[in-house]
Amino acid sequence: MTKLDTIRAAESKLLLSTYERNPVLFVRGEGVHLIDESGNRYLDLLSGIGVNALGYGHPAIEQAIADQSRKLIHISNLYFHEGQAELAMRLTEMSGMDRAFFSNSGTEAWEAALKLARAYARTKGLGTKFLALEHSFHGRTMGSVATTHKEKYREPFAPVMPGVEFVRFDDIADLKAKFSTEVCAVLIEAIQGEGGIRPVSQEFMQAARELTRSTGALLVADEIQAGLGRTGKWFAYQHYGIQPDVTTIAKPLAGGLPLGAMLCTEEAAAAIHPGMHGTTFGGGPLSCAVALAVIDTIERGQLLEHVTTTGAYFHNALEQLQTNHPAITEVRGKGLMLAIELESAELAKHAAAEMMKRRILINRTSETVLRFLPPFILTTAHVDEAVAALNEILTESGPAQTAGHSHTPGGHTIG
Ligand SMILES: *Cc1c(COP(=O)(O)O)cnc(C)c1O
Repeated sequence: MTKLDTIRAAESKLLLSTYERNPVLFVRGEGVHLIDESGNRYLDLLSGIGVNALGYGHPAIEQAIADQSRKLIHISNLYFHEGQAELAMRLTEMSGMDRAFFSNSGTEAWEAALKLARAYARTKGLGTKFLALEHSFHGRTMGSVATTHKEKYREPFAPVMPGVEFVRFDDIADLKAKFSTEVCAVLIEAIQGEGGIRPVSQEFMQAARELTRSTGALLVADEIQAGLGRTGKWFAYQHYGIQPDVTTIAKPLAGGLPLGAMLCTEEAAAAIHPGMHGTTFGGGPLSCAVALAVIDTIERGQLLEHVTTTGAYFHNALEQLQTNHPAITEVRGKGLMLAIELESAELAKHAAAEMMKRRILINRTSETVLRFLPPFILTTAHVDEAVAALNEILTESGPAQTAGHSHTPGGHTIG
């Protein structure tokens, strides 16, 4: 038995069977590559589901962990430490928000946003209803999952949090029909992640901003996947030129350590008083110190510009690929948050598995979508390698056509 087999057998008896893991045992990472137990190198275009923005083994992260771990790892939120105010200062500047609440994960940041919306609505005499979008994903805890569209995530645990209504994706008429003073918040991912890398339109975002403003309801932007530079701006809503009242971040925030944050306006924040909400671990000294190092590294390395140019190169390469492969029905996304939609779930499954065989990691989401969330340090050579592999796989699995034929109109662009 290999080490992988042994671990696999043990896990199958000992762990709750929540995951269908790929059969590979990673032991190390370097830059954009993961290395398995036999020393094979994998090009990682998923980066731990959008977490490892600086790749693996980044010296700034290692240094921050080493330095802070010698000083203080945890103290609880009963006392002051050096990290939270400084990190809140950076995040509020980047986002245009006023205040921060730190959590340990995306779903906890989202729970904080939901609780804030309910508490704030009460002070304004608004109702308790949330409007979320079809294909949305906001997390797995009882409140977050209630605002997540996919029924199979909610139904086994019913009743989840009541008071959520789903609006058809990008459908302004449906949004207007469902909006009233009963609504405490409209919940939006500017670019849906798990839902298949779907950007909402400029018009929809603007309509949501205007409607919520008309009653004082909150516009809440979930940036847990798209935020912190992945789309080439700190926040994906910044491509739309709108400012939400509340936003949530997590995945890449602390370089792989668990940390999330809910950011909000001064006005919304006034609804929360000491004792109403809190966490034991959230915003600890270690994760805050690492988050500051991550933000510094993105700024000093001008990685937002790098994400923009490398992302445009990647998007363009995928569009070129589409001209040769009509099985690609759409190319979507912004920066290094990209996807191709394939004509069938079967083909998408096959392509993801074939990429894995070629030691390139991608992920299939929403059945037919191949998703790319690579580290921000990706280069065009890595893009070429991945696109060449995709070309090979699609050529082997279907009739390729010459450029110009069967080319459906390209992906959405925004901003
Ligand atoms: C991943 C994700 C979440 C949940 O984050 P967890 O850290 O897994 O709880 C919420 N919203 C979006 C948009 C996400 O991508």
